[in-house]
Amino acid sequence: MKPDWIKPADRLGSLPPYVFARLDELKVRAREQGLDLIDLGMGNPDGPTPQPVVEAAIAALQNSANHGYPPFEGTASFRRTITDWYYRRYNVKLDPEGEALPLLGSKEGLTHLALAYVNPGDTVLVPSPAYPAHFRGPLIAGANIHSLILKPENDWLIDVAAIPEAIARQAKILYFNYPSNPTAATAPREFFEEIVAFARHYEILLVHDLCYAELAFDGYQPTSLLEIPGAKEIGVEFHTLSKTYNMAGWRVGFVVGNRHVVQGLRTLKTNLDYGIFAALQTAAETALQLPDVYLHEVQARYRTRRDFLIQGLAELGWTVPKPNATMYLWVACPPGIGSTDFALSVLQETGVVVTPGNAFGTGGEGYVRISLIAECDRLGEALHRFKQAGICYQPGALVSSAD
Ligand SMILES: *Cc1c(COP(=O)(O)O)cnc(C)c1O
Repeated sequence: MKPDWIKPADRLGSLPPYVFARLDELKVRAREQGLDLIDLGMGNPDGPTPQPVVEAAIAALQNSANHGYPPFEGTASFRRTITDWYYRRYNVKLDPEGEALPLLGSKEGLTHLALAYVNPGDTVLVPSPAYPAHFRGPLIAGANIHSLILKPENDWLIDVAAIPEAIARQAKILYFNYPSNPTAATAPREFFEEIVAFARHYEILLVHDLCYAELAFDGYQPTSLLEIPGAKEIGVEFHTLSKTYNMAGWRVGFVVGNRHVVQGLRTLKTNLDYGIFAALQTAAETALQLPDVYLHEVQARYRTRRDFLIQGLAELGWTVPKPNATMYLWVACPPGIGSTDFALSVLQETGVVVTPGNAFGTGGEGYVRISLIAECDRLGEALHRFKQAGICYQPGALVSSAD
């Protein structure tokens, strides 16, 4: 038993309950019962890291110059590779000496940015649903979160015009993310222009998470915040190697944009960590320099899975819009059942793991997120089990409850 006096700080108590906990428990139980789980719950890419990146890492490991503490601000060479990449992809010029900072994965930076910029009681605007770090970071920092509820009728875009004037005046930071996790929505360039104008008018720091920059299909090219004139004066953009290059375990990401904000985050981080192992920074350079043919392969893999699953779900009565980016499908629950109950019954009855939409905030209620992180034969098996268990899109489709 934990003695009473061993109590975590209030800031931990301010975090909403972790919806995944109940799912995890059921997952463990299902595995113990020998059930063959199909886990489409996590955003964890299933492929291997590209071989040239692995080889660059092995070679860099052999170089003892890489074995000490890396420089706080990342190696000059990796920062240069990052800014070259931005120029190549978006025609955006950045100074590698102050407008780019490597991170131990973008989640680390997204969260620490809140600690570096939010005082207790400050207002932070966060869409709902959102990637959890976008609200959990500010909550840890003591922010008042003002949720911007996203709606299907607005194509899951933030309705900037609907933000009350008084809230806009108070707000210090706005986090956002297109192509989006979890909704898979993408935003047109005009949306970025609108949100930049809004942030400039109300003097709000814009934090854009571009983690699906390259997982886009059918000719769609995601927009970088920094392509918008004036954005660098009020904003930063986060990126990661986790998704595009199947490097989630390596913990490599970066932030670029406004130099004062990049500097503030760096100052905080000098008190917390020493940055990324230099050998991995070398390998990360190789990743960002891979020829485009590699990207086309990754994109084709997710596109094939997307089309396969959408087709199969259609046969079960679901009309799922075809996303032109990310590795997710955002699927409405059958009428009359909540996200958590639906995800739990799907798991219990079929051994397929999907994520309840409310894990991403109340705005995600009524939906589940399915990650395209298995090959089509496994996705086919998942669909087969749905059919057998009578899981389809119609009222009262699920007779047994999750309990
Ligand atoms: C996966 C994901 C991240 C996390 O990236 P890491 O660099 O691995 O920490 C950040 N943002 C979004 C929206 C994601 O989906």
